[in-house]
Amino acid sequence: MELSQAVSAQTSLVQRLLDGVATIGADPPGITRDAYGRGENAAQALIAEAGRALGMTASLDAGANLTLRWASGHDAPPVLIGSHLDSVVQGGNFDGAAGVIAGIGAVAALQAAGIAPKRDIEVLGLRCEEAVWFGLGLIGSRCLLARLPDGALELPHARSGLTLAQSIDGCGGDSARLRQNTPLRDPATLGAYLEVHIEQAPQLVEANAPLAICLANPGNVRHPFIRITGEDAHTGLPHRFRHDAALAGADLSLSLERMWLEEEAQGRPMAVTIGRFHTPAARHSLTAVSGGFEMSLDLRAYDAAHLAALEARLDAIAAEVAARRKVTIALGERSAAAPGPMDRAIVEELSAAATRCGIPAPRLNSPGSHDANNFAASGVPTGMLLVRNRNGSHNPHEAMETADLMAAIGVLAEWLAR
Ligand SMILES: [Zn+2]
Repeated sequence: MELSQAVSAQTSLVQRLLDGVATIGADPPGITRDAYGRGENAAQALIAEAGRALGMTASLDAGANLTLRWASGHDAPPVLIGSHLDSVVQGGNFDGAAGVIAGIGAVAALQAAGIAPKRDIEVLGLRCEEAVWFGLGLIGSRCLLARLPDGALELPHARSGLTLAQSIDGCGGDSARLRQNTPLRDPATLGAYLEVHIEQAPQLVEANAPLAICLANPGNVRHPFIRITGEDAHTGLPHRFRHDAALAGADLSLSLERMWLEEEAQGRPMAVTIGRFHTPAARHSLTAVSGGFEMSLDLRAYDAAHLAALEARLDAIAAEVAARRKVTIALGERSAAAPGPMDRAIVEELSAAATRCGIPAPRLNSPGSHDANNFAASGVPTGMLLVRNRNGSHNPHEAMETADLMAAIGVLAEWLAR
């Protein structure tokens, strides 16, 4: 059978798995597959069963990630195809799971086409990619590649209250092994990591293309608890006497937006998100100038040097706003994640595979960070395919067409066949 026909023939398998993980996660009006909990475990079991039916060997690593191996009998470094099986609370069905299912679909297609792998192909069902469960994201791939930050294993699960270590051990992992803080797989022994993921913005809907070849995933710098301190005052106080923390917060936000637009106008993509933005609820009122203000900041960019330059600009902007508004601005706690540039050779290979499949596949930066970031940051040649998705992600209205996922599986299978 031609490979393209063999891919089409997997549509019912892929649909069955998509429907299966939706049933597992059903939590109207959305989907909840709790990490290191019932939802993720059940999705992992469903995927493991599908892999075993294809003759793949299933195993769990110390992070309790699922690995399904299609052994080739050759020594060449394996190709890993992965994504995650958890979801946010009442999110959509496709963020994560579609990528794991794509790996199963591609293996099934290669087998149906009678193509023997030239190296082992492994499909990974990674754990806990979403930050909602422990306040830290990408946990499965961090476990795999020894990239957990200090103290991570003691973080409590948002739902069960168990620590991450207890959660991992309860799902068949080995937190004691993770405490050794060495990679579970030596990155130097991995041939490539490839992730299929829905796009979290409607750029492919706009471009009228079923999928894109990802160029880079953003890294970020986050300040979850920015505090601005001025002076509480009467609403009659003239402007020149005010130390208005609320307007300073607005000023800081709009100054950062101006920076964003300037940077993008100069061809340097990035994003600024102020997720939390408020006067202190316990004492704010209609008739007071607010002496306090709190906000969060997520600053993201696609290149480590650019991100560092943006952070320097952030410091300068905060200092300027504080001086002009006569307030203090404490950026507070900081966390950071490295950008994930995709491997140039894999980008070219995927483009060539898409061309051979006759599928239009523009090149795009991913709006979101993914497990792929950890593989790229660990030196594993990494690639991603982004699948068209209307309505964004992390909400019940994610809308990916199975036909678009099949197009991605076609490109993935074509790439694997070479
Ligand atoms: Zn995801």
